Amino acid sequence: MRVAMIGTGYVGLVSGACFADFGHVVTCVDKDASKIERLKQGEIPIFEPGLDQLVATNVREERLFFTTEAADAIKDADAVFIAVGTPSRRGDGHADLSYVYAAAEEIADLMDGFTVVVTKSTVPVGTGDEIEEIIKKRRPDAQFAVVSNPEFLREGAAINDFKRPDRVVVGTDDERARHVMSELYRPLNLNETPLVFTGRRTSELIKYAANAFLALKITFINEIADICEKVGADVNQVARGIGLDNRIGSKFLHAGPGYGGSCFPKDTLALVRTAADYGAPIRLVETTVEVNNARKKAMAEKIAAAMGGDLQGKTVGLLGLTFKPNTDDMRDSPSLDIVPALQAKGATVQAFDPEGMHEAEKMLSGVVFKDGPYEAITGADAMVIVTEWDQFRALDLDRVRLLLRSPTLVDLRNVYRPDDMRARGFNYTSIGRV
Ligand code: NAD
Repeated sequence: MRVAMIGTGYVGLVSGACFADFGHVVTCVDKDASKIERLKQGEIPIFEPGLDQLVATNVREERLFFTTEAADAIKDADAVFIAVGTPSRRGDGHADLSYVYAAAEEIADLMDGFTVVVTKSTVPVGTGDEIEEIIKKRRPDAQFAVVSNPEFLREGAAINDFKRPDRVVVGTDDERARHVMSELYRPLNLNETPLVFTGRRTSELIKYAANAFLALKITFINEIADICEKVGADVNQVARGIGLDNRIGSKFLHAGPGYGGSCFPKDTLALVRTAADYGAPIRLVETTVEVNNARKKAMAEKIAAAMGGDLQGKTVGLLGLTFKPNTDDMRDSPSLDIVPALQAKGATVQAFDPEGMHEAEKMLSGVVFKDGPYEAITGADAMVIVTEWDQFRALDLDRVRLLLRSPTLVDLRNVYRPDDMRARGFNYTSIGRV
């Protein structure tokens, strides 16, 4: 099959490379000329484990191509995927669909023969109908079907998630489109991956419902963590105790500083807006959004309290800036709330992140970026773990104590154990454990 991927960001690049690895011929298109140029030079613009090799292999095998020119890619394609961004619209939190609609217009003008137009971007219910209208209006003669195929991959584990997904959701009522989608995902038959065919609107909603549910689950355990701190219980043990119940499941029960990233914040907000527009307000998710926003802001207070309250003239050594490990993505990361709030209280922030510092430099000001974890905490009044990168899990704690001006450790990811840390002489604060 021939595939055109419109948008070569996180999702477009990973999906494109994986489809190529399945044996399809994929052309990844992006408007960003410098991104395409880098990809052509063999450089990967994002950090995602294993992606460099996957791209290199498929480029070498001539199944994966990169271009800024959509024309040929779309003309020859059996399926054209829309994988452009759908950020929060400024002001109201609705998904900004301008990139999606611009891509739809472009596809309409360029497609040739029966073409399946697939929305991989996360889009609100009804967007597929809108795309269909746009194409029909510009090309009344066109033979096409618009399909919803939301993506569930996680950054940091994106290739595995794409190649071994729990399920693939395909929203279409069109038989020809169904056939094309089945062919595209046929290699997954080997692992017996369920291909869930639904109506298009249902498929669009599945994506938002999934993200909202996961965001809610995280927020739930975060609030349980707050209770734990008050009553002297241990949130990790509570999470294990409830997570072993199959009806609940153990995933997404890690208490922390609040969810961030490129999806949950914007998708929960967009679902809230859609629900309100349709007169079916989704109060649980509204509350989730509020609680999570407040939580991210409250983390600076927690750090200040652990440091004695007054941060004037103090230095914080901060480990981890990205919203989770194994990605360089800084979008809506808790660090974007925590760092400015610490600075506003008069602290100097020294920070290290294994992959996120080049992105962080664009989004944070006044931070002293360091070359490693030990450099970041040297002379600091406290060490704060914001992101649980593997390399922060087994630090030389004797060295940490010597380098810190005072042995205060705030562990927002529960990487270390309170009793152990206390025995080592640290003033240790974590989440939901006393
Ligand atoms: P991104 O910002 O990393 O990439 C989007 C790319 O699209 C950019 O490179 C941009 O230059 C390009 N683009 C925009 N308009 C274009 C056009 N008309 N033609 C060609 N290129 C164009 O975004 P992303 O993180 O890959 O997310 C894309 C979509 O996938 C979003 O809707 C997101 O919600 C969804 N999604 C993301 C993830 C994730 O983990 N990042 C997971 C699942 C779903």
